[in-house]
Amino acid sequence: MSALLRVLLVDDSEDDYIITRDLFTQTEGNMVDLEWVDSYDAALERLGQKCHDVYIFDYFLGGRTGLELLQWAVEHDITAPVIMLTGHKDSEVDLLAMRAGAADYLVKGRTDALLLERTVRYASEHARRLETFRDLATRDELTGLYNRREMDRILDMEVLRCRRYDHPLSLVIIDIDNFKAINDTTGHKSGDTVLRAVSQLLLAALRSTDSLARYGGEELVVILPETPEEVALLVAERMRTMVEAYDFATLLPSVTIGGRLPHIELTVSLGVACTGTAPNTSDILFAAADRALYQAKRTGRNRVVSYATLPAQTGTPLPTTARIITS
Ligand code: GH3
Ligand code: MG
Ligand code: MG
Repeated sequence: MSALLRVLLVDDSEDDYIITRDLFTQTEGNMVDLEWVDSYDAALERLGQKCHDVYIFDYFLGGRTGLELLQWAVEHDITAPVIMLTGHKDSEVDLLAMRAGAADYLVKGRTDALLLERTVRYASEHARRLETFRDLATRDELTGLYNRREMDRILDMEVLRCRRYDHPLSLVIIDIDNFKAINDTTGHKSGDTVLRAVSQLLLAALRSTDSLARYGGEELVVILPETPEEVALLVAERMRTMVEAYDFATLLPSVTIGGRLPHIELTVSLGVACTGTAPNTSDILFAAADRALYQAKRTGRNRVVSYATLPAQTGTPLPTTARIITS
């Protein structure tokens, strides 16, 4: 192996851990840094930290199973490969594991050092390549943020999760104010630079569990899991002030207008909706935040508006289909 691989073994038997550890140490030039946890709950905590290259799960883990753990990992966007290493050869579990997204299925007692090392190495390399393709498919080229398709996927997943666990979920739609004027005065390329800078500023205001996507031209979306409306409003206000305070002219030293450096002030308008105040389907949550954004634009721009504060929301029902972006 060329680089040190961080591997997490989840197995409720210490004896089996020792066997697996010994198999790795038998490999010539062993490059595996093996960590062991002996319970489902301890595994959840370590998985959530996303700090391993490969996971190896036993099947029976107290009252839970490695298959359940695998499903949890997939649901929580953990992209490192999972190898099942179980005590018995059970083709049904093998098939279930494969369908749930396991990278491989090994049987204890029939797995020697060579096979184990090779399986881990191939799974890790395969996952690394998949990650490159994933980035191409899910990221916006200009800003590096998630693209619209990925944002739709994450939002659908978070809405399902918030319904299942009854957690709040907030959504913020951000539109740069008068962005056309930036392009018109400084040129499209400079407009691109400003768009990238705004993206980075907004990212800096968020937690790692939040997702920022470029949804349309100069329209960005933030998904805030487990976030009630009052917290989402604070985050939105923080993003608004960060953009307002930034001097974008420093990014464009070559831009002069009439021989003088332009003064580039930029603001954003933000619409906020939360599952506590809008019905919780992706489309309706999105439409609610969009309606709040429209109100922010209508009432003067450079402001945060919450859907919950809009007058007469009950008068016009929210659309039930996804909106078409026309910007
Ligand atoms: P408002 O405050 O109402 O949002 O005004 P606006 O000028 O921001 O909105 P409008 O929808 O009229 O214009 C959006 C502009 O964003 C026009 C479009 O050329 C520009 N834009 C969209 N995508 C890009 C991009 O990738 N790069 C650059 N440079 N400009 C873009
Ligand atoms: Mg705009
Ligand atoms: Mg727009």
